[in-house]
Amino acid sequence: MNKLEIREHVSLSSLSTFGMGGRAQFFVEVRTFEEFVFAVEWARKKNVSYRVMAGGSNIIFPDEGLDCLLIRFFGGNMVVSTNTESVTNKRISEFTDRTIIADAGVLLGDVIKKAVSLELRGLETLSGIPGTIGGAVYGNAGAYGHSISKAVEKVEILIPQTFERKWILKAQCKFGYRESVFKRGFTQTISPIILRVILKLEKGNQEELEKKSQEIISLREKKYKPGLKCPGSFFKNVLVKDVSKKSFALVDSSKIIDGKIPAGWLLERVGAKGMREGGIYIADFHGNLFVNDGQGTAANVKMLARILKKKVLDRFGIELEEEVRYF
Ligand SMILES: Cc1cc2nc3c(=O)[nH]c(=O)nc-3n(C[C@H](O)[C@H](O)[C@H](O)COP(=O)(O)OP(=O)(O)OC[C@H]3O[C@@H](n4cnc5c(N)ncnc54)[C@H](O)[C@@H]3O)c2cc1C
Repeated sequence: MNKLEIREHVSLSSLSTFGMGGRAQFFVEVRTFEEFVFAVEWARKKNVSYRVMAGGSNIIFPDEGLDCLLIRFFGGNMVVSTNTESVTNKRISEFTDRTIIADAGVLLGDVIKKAVSLELRGLETLSGIPGTIGGAVYGNAGAYGHSISKAVEKVEILIPQTFERKWILKAQCKFGYRESVFKRGFTQTISPIILRVILKLEKGNQEELEKKSQEIISLREKKYKPGLKCPGSFFKNVLVKDVSKKSFALVDSSKIIDGKIPAGWLLERVGAKGMREGGIYIADFHGNLFVNDGQGTAANVKMLARILKKKVLDRFGIELEEEVRYF
């Protein structure tokens, strides 16, 4: 293991795509189980707590900074497995050459590129989603009717309290719409850390996959201009099954997509587009896109989110839930 560099008083704004936050007291980047354990033991010796992040594309750091060791899973390796047994300690019986095994810190975009180059189908609709494969599995990232859970076969996890390390099956990941056991935790106090992910993909046609991937990237770049300081969609779309009959009657049913009421539509109906609080504003072309003009703070974000949630609740009786994670 290379010696890890633990840095002090690191600015958080450059670590998240939303571009805000104070400083982390301590910060370290890790790629492997051994490095993560080293970092946690370092924190324990120093008597400081620790938090885990990755690509920083779905988080809001606090203005006052973080009084802890911030551990960033970033980088690592990816193998198109030829020998799953050695990787998973003989716990996987089945193996095909359509399997990619990636460390949590590998960029999702790199995994997708690898899959496409190997003519493997199943990830291409996620093209352009920033962040890592670990972050994607944590929040069951998705787009255009697909989510990462469809491709996940197993996840290697670590229980931080005991350093127990094991593979769990997809069913144990309890994936739902932008949900997983990693987000909810096994219990209130035990949240597993994602170390590696095994993805099982289908055989596809490289030319078609590349075309699809490029089309989606171009489409996305119209909404998310490169360099835009934002965390993607701010609120989750609303599952129709969770909405009361009274609220449902207030919704234009032609707007429902895949059993979900788009949060953007609800927000637009309450006049969100163009609203501003300090340095944070809502895009004038999409009600669910919070943007930082460079001067925005987490306090601005929370205030704007509170105002918008209340407007949607008052008008539709629907409680919006953040997709982004407040740190
Ligand atoms: C421009 C833009 C467009 C986006 N579009 C989409 C989209 O279309 N669909 C979509 O679903 N999302 C989208 N997002 C949100 C974001 O990209 C995804 O949620 C992404 O998967 C987050 O990955 P990350 O590595 O950046 O995680 P981070 O933001 O760093 O972390 C997110 C959460 O995951 C946890 N976490 C990260 N790694 C681990 C690990 N190894 N073990 C345990 N917990 C971990 C962190 O603690 C944190 O709570 C978009 C974001 C941006 C900025």
